[in-house]
Amino acid sequence: MNERKAVRFAPYRSLRIAVASGKGGTGKTTVATSLALSLAADRTQTLPAARPDPPLFLDCDVEAPNAHLFLKPTFERRQDVGILIPHVDEAKCTHCGKCAEVCQYHAIAVLGKKVLVFPQLCHGCGSCTLTCPEGAISEAPDVMGVLERGTTPSGIAFARGVMNVGEPMATPIIRQLKKWAVPTLRADQIVILDASPGTSCPVVESVRGADFLLLVTEPTPFGLHDLRLAVQVGRELSIPIGVVVNRDGIGDSGVDEFCETEGLPILMRIPFERAIAEGVAQGKPLVDIHPEYMAHFQQMLMRIAKGVSSSAADITSDKSNPLFEVTVLDFKRKLTQKHIP
Ligand code: SF4
Ligand code: SF4
Repeated sequence: MNERKAVRFAPYRSLRIAVASGKGGTGKTTVATSLALSLAADRTQTLPAARPDPPLFLDCDVEAPNAHLFLKPTFERRQDVGILIPHVDEAKCTHCGKCAEVCQYHAIAVLGKKVLVFPQLCHGCGSCTLTCPEGAISEAPDVMGVLERGTTPSGIAFARGVMNVGEPMATPIIRQLKKWAVPTLRADQIVILDASPGTSCPVVESVRGADFLLLVTEPTPFGLHDLRLAVQVGRELSIPIGVVVNRDGIGDSGVDEFCETEGLPILMRIPFERAIAEGVAQGKPLVDIHPEYMAHFQQMLMRIAKGVSSSAADITSDKSNPLFEVTVLDFKRKLTQKHIP
């Protein structure tokens, strides 16, 4: 039995699961952290071949990182993060305007005999520097935040980005966080990315390159509205999607109906319960509040790994689990990206 699993899951040892939601406050971090803790605890049973090591957890919610409150890492390394901003040497500049023409973000403008740089709009792409025919542009680093990494008491490798207050762009920090942390990855480690809330650029950057997108929602009209947007993001990026319904029992059946219509598997339901709300507010992971959820998360991971690693024929042959029949509809839109850039 275990030998068969070893063959089946071995190519997916570095499975990358992004946990996102269309908006904040839906329980995204509650799910992501408990998934990580369940993986760290399950050393021998659920995924013996796929996951011999605790996972790598990336808190990509750089504007308001809070996963550390649940996982309690000790940080061992810190590094400033930022982008290179252009600086113009007026003595060399001929005011030809080529730098402004090439900038897609309108972050540099030539007004008569003056070149203006708007650091808040600059993405640090370097195009203006490369384009300037006079070599009048140099670049200087602009620190936007800090990257930190360490280890949690349960052995989870943890990394996060923290954006400085007042900075306008989270995306460069998320990109750098992924570049900084992923090279430390062991070959057989699963990666869990706790994405920014919403559906804008930071979320796209967080989930880009993931093997699976786990969307956390709540069964209300607002939850459904944001879930629709988040599903669009996942489909634009060709990432298979699964749904976790948090606060199950409130609201209506709209989310269920949407998932059924769209062929989205609901992989877990977490009930609306006072004990969970109070525990999470005190910084307790869900699997500490209700230890039986450890097995639920392990089972969910098994389904995700199976869905990502199996061919459509493998899944459809699993008639005992109707969930996989739904899942295969989504997995037929196979991934094209396997690496976090
Ligand atoms: S491209 Fe160079 S020379 Fe031309 S306006 Fe910009 S900085 Fe000046
Ligand atoms: S580095 Fe890129 S984004 Fe910034 S001003 Fe130059 S061209 Fe525009």
